[in-house]
Amino acid sequence: MLKKSLFILISCCMIYSCGVKEEQNPFLADFQTENGVPPFDEIKMEHYEPAFLKGIEEQNKNIEEIIDSKEPPTFSNVIERLDNSSPILDRVGGVFYNLTSAETTEELTNLSLKLSPILTEQNDNIYLNQALFDKVNAVYQNREKEELTTEQLRLLEKVYQGFIRAGAKLPADAQQRLREINTQLSTLALTFGHNILNEDNSYKLLIDNEADLAGLPTSYIQSAKEEAKLIGEEGKWLVTLHNSSRLPFLQYAENRDLRKELFSAYINRGNNQNENNNKEVITEIVKLRLEKAQLLGYTNFADFVLARNMAKDSETVMNFLHKLWDYSLPAAKKEADELEQLLKEELPEESLEAWDWWFYTEKLRQSKYALNEEEIKPYFKLENVRDGAFTVANKLYGISITKIEGVPVYHPDVEVFEVKDRDGSQLGLFYVDYFPRAGKRSGAWMSSYRDQKGEIRPLICNVCNFTKPTADLPSLLTLDEVETLFHEFGHALHGLLTKCNYAGVSGTSVSRDFVELPSQINEHWAMEPEVLKMYAKHYQTNEVISDELIEKIIKQSTFNEGFRTTELLAAAILDMNLHVLTTADDLDVVAYEKEAMDKLGLIKQIPPRYRTTYFNHIVGGYAAGYYSYLWANVLDSDAFEAFKENGIFDQETADLFRRNVLEKGDSEDPMILYKNFRGKEPQLEPMLKNRGLI
Ligand SMILES: [Zn+2]
Repeated sequence: MLKKSLFILISCCMIYSCGVKEEQNPFLADFQTENGVPPFDEIKMEHYEPAFLKGIEEQNKNIEEIIDSKEPPTFSNVIERLDNSSPILDRVGGVFYNLTSAETTEELTNLSLKLSPILTEQNDNIYLNQALFDKVNAVYQNREKEELTTEQLRLLEKVYQGFIRAGAKLPADAQQRLREINTQLSTLALTFGHNILNEDNSYKLLIDNEADLAGLPTSYIQSAKEEAKLIGEEGKWLVTLHNSSRLPFLQYAENRDLRKELFSAYINRGNNQNENNNKEVITEIVKLRLEKAQLLGYTNFADFVLARNMAKDSETVMNFLHKLWDYSLPAAKKEADELEQLLKEELPEESLEAWDWWFYTEKLRQSKYALNEEEIKPYFKLENVRDGAFTVANKLYGISITKIEGVPVYHPDVEVFEVKDRDGSQLGLFYVDYFPRAGKRSGAWMSSYRDQKGEIRPLICNVCNFTKPTADLPSLLTLDEVETLFHEFGHALHGLLTKCNYAGVSGTSVSRDFVELPSQINEHWAMEPEVLKMYAKHYQTNEVISDELIEKIIKQSTFNEGFRTTELLAAAILDMNLHVLTTADDLDVVAYEKEAMDKLGLIKQIPPRYRTTYFNHIVGGYAAGYYSYLWANVLDSDAFEAFKENGIFDQETADLFRRNVLEKGDSEDPMILYKNFRGKEPQLEPMLKNRGLI
């Protein structure tokens, strides 16, 4: 997943009233640190709010100067200056929004709720500023007369469309309504996320009977015991909703009732009659989005979103998803039949339920491929996998990645690496924060503290929730976690290798359905035999993974893929269904979800990968955008074919990918970039083949 807090352009009449003196606030000037990194050791809670307010003041001053300029409007005195209009907001926003996701506190959470309407108002004050729009529009209408580069034209188009899409051309009353909608939406989104975090953190399955642990790996039991001790429950075992705790439990625990309890707790998050209820929150979000889209002249919110993506409209996306559905559902049903047979051998009177899926899948994996995840995990020590990802990047792009000490961090788990190009020049710094904590959102994502533009190199981070090391065991990753590490590092490469002149187009600021190409293509290398030999070494003996184990891993690569594709597709279709609505007056999201899934013929054993009340993606930047993972999967599978055809470390192919995709950001239309790399448009077949669907 990719997270980006954008302060593209953002007046506010709040008074700058905090007691902290300006010169003591590290956000108010360039960070006085080596590499200009955030000085986490100096940043205090009381610095954020005044910095945001001062940042707004600074931005308003810069915008006034653009408007008051007597020179004729040009790309450089309007668009370029807008791109550089908010240095303080860029600095404070980069730190603040990373921390509210990775290491939040009640104070940070409360401040984000307080700031949200202020920043939304600032954004609207800019995009609905008629004098500023007149300037932008003048540059846009005269674009043929200036000699602009492709990148400049792309940024100009993006900025101009940004104003139109924000309502710059609408009458005053519609603009006023848009402001109200935007403010409400920003606060609702925060509430939605906080509710999920609260649901995740408040649920605790405490086990005090050792027999209930039957089937679970020793390492898991030890970790669960340590977790219980941490919350003052010594002698018991703690199971939580976090992936690294929940998934192995569903996979191995023989106690079916407990699996059911844990599974039900997970899929009902935000759908309980408690203070974390998200039903009304998401309903309100859907209604407000629809109203916004219609004010802006679109039939529904999906078409509003998709107009700026590769896919262009909801019909294209729906056709694409339904086409895949016809391949994936039959495959999932076949898998369900096989699993039910296994279940019936033990429980002849019972039928397969959703909480059985992971358990019998693991059994089937073992019987079909004689492969047990516990048997392979010792070869996937986190540090080895990470070094493997670094080595692949080195072999492909010639970059070197070295750990550096002494860089201020916000938590002891965070490590920092310096990334250098082939010629020794610095490409940027890379922060990793791999283990779950109470203040961290679930999932895995890439983000930045500073984006690249011109000579300024980026500060990129990966934040994940991988299995934690215990007193006796290092962090040993599952195959899914290995892929996640490569995935997030692929986003990081997109952020680190970019070579653009403007922040508005650099790095990962591409359309949603293109952004997963660099991340997903990077996953392909993780399971290549040649690559596994490089990094998959036993954590105790350093012995390289055997050919026999590699063969088993490869053989089972399409195993359970019917389920995986189906749960992803169901979530993507659910997202689209919510956003193609043209009326939402009587919307009951839970009933609507059920109706939509029934209509699809989704089987009861497979819930959508995310259900409406905890679908963080669609409240964040992936509204009418969850399909992007599958859309980009077509791109990454087709792109990796080029590597398979020419050699997975073929320098020419790697150079083409680097120069046309990784370095280019959003400086050109994504399909043009893709074709420049591949020489042709992407085909669907490689993706279907990789998923074992044809
Ligand atoms: Zn991603």
